[in-house]
Amino acid sequence: MIPLRNNIASMAGYVPGYQPPDIASWIKLNTNENPYPPSPEVVKAITAELGQDGASLRTYPSASSQTLREIAGDLYGFDPSWVIMANGSDEVLNNLIRAFAAEGEEIGFVHPSYSYYATLAEIQGAKVRTFSLTDDLWIAGFPENYEGKLLFLTTPNSPLGFAFTPGYIEKIAQRCKGMLVVDEAYADFSDSNALDLVRKYENVVITRTLSKSYALAGMRLGLAIARPEVIAALDKIRDHYNLDRLAQAACGAALKDQEYFAECCRKIRATRDWFSGELRKIGYDLIPSQGNFVFAAPPDRNGKRVYDGLYERKILVRYFTDPLLSAGLRISIGTRDEMETTLKAIKEIG
Ligand SMILES: *Cc1c(COP(=O)(O)O)cnc(C)c1O
Repeated sequence: MIPLRNNIASMAGYVPGYQPPDIASWIKLNTNENPYPPSPEVVKAITAELGQDGASLRTYPSASSQTLREIAGDLYGFDPSWVIMANGSDEVLNNLIRAFAAEGEEIGFVHPSYSYYATLAEIQGAKVRTFSLTDDLWIAGFPENYEGKLLFLTTPNSPLGFAFTPGYIEKIAQRCKGMLVVDEAYADFSDSNALDLVRKYENVVITRTLSKSYALAGMRLGLAIARPEVIAALDKIRDHYNLDRLAQAACGAALKDQEYFAECCRKIRATRDWFSGELRKIGYDLIPSQGNFVFAAPPDRNGKRVYDGLYERKILVRYFTDPLLSAGLRISIGTRDEMETTLKAIKEIG
């Protein structure tokens, strides 16, 4: 027996959405990736960074990603000292737990939401408390004074797609004695976000990712916005070269091309709203979505049956065995063409 820590020996490990090896032969709607390519400026920036012979790769990248902090700070209206760049927002979620929750201390999150928080807590040896949702999608029984070191609030929620209102998030922030991490992986598709709360409350952190709205899941890029004291703490913990050269080049180009970005988000939202309406017409039960996906249950509330039917047709969506979620499917929003094909398949499956 190798001398592992007990919590590592007993944990299962996170299972990400399936990435099929023959990816091009699927309509892939299972991990909320963007169906459009990133901005053409991204390709130019990566090519320029690489140069003819890749000589730039000999040297380490900028350790602080300072230029990117400035670009992101400008974009969201914060001084760069309020911004940290991450190798995917997963990295910054991990570092938040390491910074704020010692072994045996509690972190909280809503169930259902992003299950990776539980994995990160297990690695750290932190305790987990989950909060369920009421029928009208508020947090059930949230304490007047929540003592957990961190509360993760995924908004818009994945897999359900609804967003908490900024007013509600503010009330939650006031009730948290520890940090409130607002995971805004899908905020770019939503009508609201919680950026104002970071200015107002010192315990609020916002995390964002370039994986979904900027179509850069393959580059691993995320960021967090918080008070400089929080950012300084996270800076001590991260890998010192957490963003590689090509990722830094891609990130700057993507954040600067706001016109392309906005058009991409507009198309996805329009397709989402059209697709949601079509599913309702055939009796599907849907929560109105603020993300780039919908959570939808067929009339017989048998998510697995429809998942299997779509799988046979080489359409990959996300099915969760959790009893709270097994009635439905999470379907990422692809191009209009992909969603027309998917709708046709769903009608065939019946
Ligand atoms: C996709 C996702 C992430 C992870 O983003 P990366 O930047 O790809 O690591 C974090 N939180 C939620 C809720 C997500 O859906």
